[in-house]
Amino acid sequence: MNRKFDIAVIGAGPGGYVAAIKAAQLGKSVALIEKQELGGTCLNVGCIPTKTLLSSSSLLHQVRRAAEFGIETGPISIAYHKMKARKDAVIEKIRKNLEGLLKSNQITIYRASAQFESPHELKLTGVDNCRIFAEQIIIATGSIPVDVPAFPCNHTTILDSTSILELTQVPPSLIIVGGGYIGCEFASLFAELGSKVTILEALPSILAAQGPTVSDFMTRTFKAKGISIQTNVKVAKISNKPQITLTDGTTLHADKVLVSVGRKPYTQSLCLEKAGLATTERGFIAVNDAMETEIRGIFAIGDVTGKSMLAHVASHQGLVAAMNACGLKAHVHYDAVPAVVFTSPEIATVGFSLEQAQEKGLRAQAATFPFQAIGKAQASNDTEGFAQVVFDPKTKQILGATIIGHEASNLIAEMALAMQNELTLESIVDTIHAHPTMAEVWHEVAALSLGSPIHLPPKKRAP
Ligand SMILES: Cc1cc2nc3c(=O)[nH]c(=O)nc-3n(C[C@H](O)[C@H](O)[C@H](O)COP(=O)(O)OP(=O)(O)OC[C@H]3O[C@@H](n4cnc5c(N)ncnc54)[C@H](O)[C@@H]3O)c2cc1C
Repeated sequence: MNRKFDIAVIGAGPGGYVAAIKAAQLGKSVALIEKQELGGTCLNVGCIPTKTLLSSSSLLHQVRRAAEFGIETGPISIAYHKMKARKDAVIEKIRKNLEGLLKSNQITIYRASAQFESPHELKLTGVDNCRIFAEQIIIATGSIPVDVPAFPCNHTTILDSTSILELTQVPPSLIIVGGGYIGCEFASLFAELGSKVTILEALPSILAAQGPTVSDFMTRTFKAKGISIQTNVKVAKISNKPQITLTDGTTLHADKVLVSVGRKPYTQSLCLEKAGLATTERGFIAVNDAMETEIRGIFAIGDVTGKSMLAHVASHQGLVAAMNACGLKAHVHYDAVPAVVFTSPEIATVGFSLEQAQEKGLRAQAATFPFQAIGKAQASNDTEGFAQVVFDPKTKQILGATIIGHEASNLIAEMALAMQNELTLESIVDTIHAHPTMAEVWHEVAALSLGSPIHLPPKKRAP
């Protein structure tokens, strides 16, 4: 049945469903249209499945080193099909809860693919077939893996980040084409589970987007864990065997290949032209910081905008778009966006690295404090890693932070809050941090930046 809504949201990923809930909270009638599963990439084939599997490999890591803590174990074996089953059950549970949450907010869910008929009219095709009309439309259709025409995925031996999640056995050997954050998370996972992992990266380093401090540290760490890394190499073709041929003619073999070379905006079948919307050269939907597109009443959020392809950014943009669609005024600021790579050890960043700050022409200095000197890190034997802050030496304002090590994903929240509120190093030093905790590393690195760390010996003074 055709219906009219105040707001229609296309795509129920972390961008779309959050926008729908916010708009409903603000009293609007809301339609949420999803052609696959509620929760989008993040819940079904992204953040949650990977982190569920990584929690298995992390536990395995802990069990393997139990003897260091005085715990004797017997032989350890891996039942990967059970890890996968647990991953599927976790997704299913969250999906069910999400459906209940959306319904409790009086949001009408349509199971269909949406396409524009005009700026205010959508044609739905799928389980639900109808037309809906809405004053405001929020596009949250996300992204899909880039498939390279020279070596398309067959999803049995040549996999992408979605099909690799369907494996029921650990591949004895795995070649990962692409050393970005998704490739490195899978490298960490399967190396811990016993695969012989090789990363092939076209750029001079893995994790290039995270900057040289992170990529140098992780290259050393990965190599120490037995992960082979080849940089400055280009793949020419991959046969179904699979056999990889590099552009210099070298061949490599593995049981499985993961192609993880990036993601592209998912706008196919939306018929954007009927709404008068064009995409950028790279296929993204251009938006301003109120998440408005060039067409009045149409907003876009999340991966499809290409702004920062992270779930929490999509959700934040969803809140902002919903508020603006409801007549409030809100804007997104991207200066304090935390980003985490869930490798072992974890990597987390916020704001500028030293190199980025210097490139921007900012006055910037960095200080780095090792986990080795933190009591809690010694207690739990998690001494690998460091925390670094980048700051303005004159005003002492924090410009960025990087942390690699145990619990980095949680620890970065303090620096995100500090940066969002333009706090200085003094505010971190003046904050009492509980002892013994890993969070004390921020207190120490801030004190170090100000020249007076407690748990590092003083610099030798000139005689
Ligand atoms: C392996 C992997 C691991 C990741 N790990 C992390 C992580 O740890 N942390 C993090 O922050 N991010 C992570 N990401 C990225 C994160 O998943 C995305 O940034 C996030 O899902 C984007 O949210 P979104 O709402 O923009 O789009 P999506 O989550 O992609 O959702 C878009 C939805 O729109 C639907 N849709 C598309 N077109 C239509 C249409 N025409 N009609 C109806 N429905 C449509 C799709 O079916 C989909 O469900 C990961 C991604 C991958 C692939």
